[in-house]
Amino acid sequence: MIKQVFVTAAQQLLPWLVPAVVVAWLLDLPWLLVVLLIWVLVRRYLNLYTIVAWLKTSMHSDDAKDPPESTGVWGELTDGIYSLKKANEVERRRLEANIQYLEHSFSSMSDAVVMTDVGGRIDWCNASATRLLGVRLERDARQYFPNLVRSPRFREYYGAGDFREPLVINAPHDESIVLEIRISRFGKGDRLVFARNVTRERQLDQMRKDFIDNVSHELRTPVTVLSGYLDTIEPMSTMLPASMQKAISNMHRQTDRMRALIEDLIWLSRLETVPVEDDADPVDVYQLVKQLVQDANEVAGMDRKISVTVDEDWNIKGCYKEIYSAFSNLVFNAVRYTPPDTKIRIIWQKTNLGGELRVADKGAGIEPRHLSRLTERFYRVEDSRAESTGGTGLGLAIVKHIMMRHQGELRISSVLGSGSTFSCHFPNSRMQNKLQQ
Ligand code: ADP
Repeated sequence: MIKQVFVTAAQQLLPWLVPAVVVAWLLDLPWLLVVLLIWVLVRRYLNLYTIVAWLKTSMHSDDAKDPPESTGVWGELTDGIYSLKKANEVERRRLEANIQYLEHSFSSMSDAVVMTDVGGRIDWCNASATRLLGVRLERDARQYFPNLVRSPRFREYYGAGDFREPLVINAPHDESIVLEIRISRFGKGDRLVFARNVTRERQLDQMRKDFIDNVSHELRTPVTVLSGYLDTIEPMSTMLPASMQKAISNMHRQTDRMRALIEDLIWLSRLETVPVEDDADPVDVYQLVKQLVQDANEVAGMDRKISVTVDEDWNIKGCYKEIYSAFSNLVFNAVRYTPPDTKIRIIWQKTNLGGELRVADKGAGIEPRHLSRLTERFYRVEDSRAESTGGTGLGLAIVKHIMMRHQGELRISSVLGSGSTFSCHFPNSRMQNKLQQ
């Protein structure tokens, strides 16, 4: 490249420099050379000046203006700059077209879309943003967005910067509208905010919950009465013909199932609607697990091989009834879904992140395709098996809810043929050391 520049410069200079030197030498006029050099310098300066002027004007204009006529190195320089600018311009037009396309698509959306810069100032928003969030582009452009949405929860969510889960709030100017807000980052920390009107979905969800709640409550009394009568009748049924005895025992089993189902549905609905109430005293996990083993053996109707390892120093701050319900579901499942001589381990230990209660069994295990669905309501690995074990299909959904209510989570792992492990993880904020109590 440098070599090429020198060759071009030499090609330009030599054709007149050599004759000029020869003429000046022949005529013995050395000042002629000096005059010539000054003239060359002035021309170079003028060239440079016109290029700088062209650069300045084209920098401030959107179109790439034709470069000034120049020859040699200057020509190559201006041609280079000109083609770079042209390429830039093409790229800029392409990006502008993309942005316009996006803005056009977003404009016609019923969801609110707001783009903010890294400092949270509004760059753009669509018409739905006015309807749902109360921001208008003409009025609010470059304003700090979180301050314009009159919702402290939104401001907190926007400021915290953790957008893995959406935020659900009431629309700032109309409490009857429920919005689901999702935020994603793009570019250099810019944010794209979507607000979706989920009022109808929420209403339907609430209607579904209310319906299940009402049906469960309505059924509770008749089923309890039926079950009570059957409790009394069954021992006396030995006087009846064998076919009647079988029918009564079957009815008794089925009403018990219905009762368990209704109780679980009511419990689940309560967990979904009523906020968790921590007991004044922390939950003594050691005592709880001791009770649990006793109850599990009762459910099994025999002494099962359950080994227990409990770190007695650590308790849980939370609701005893809920925590018992979560742990018992796991332990009773381990008892119900494994053969009688299967080893079951219950471990309660402190971890770096908090506390973990693990229920591990050496049963048949669960196929991987079922694992992610186990906490869905009424999901069972095998229908017939669940029926014979008397499960309602709601146990793990209940555990998941209780763990969420205690800011924890339920984790499930299983290897077909080797067994399953269900563990409840509590955060440090829920842990209480007995010695420091
Ligand atoms: P259920 O009331 O039917 O027990 P759960 O929600 O507690 O409902 O469990 C869902 C399904 O997960 C069960 O039907 C069973 O198939 C499977 N399951 C739960 N625990 C175990 C376990 N320890 N071993 C094998 N399968 C299990």
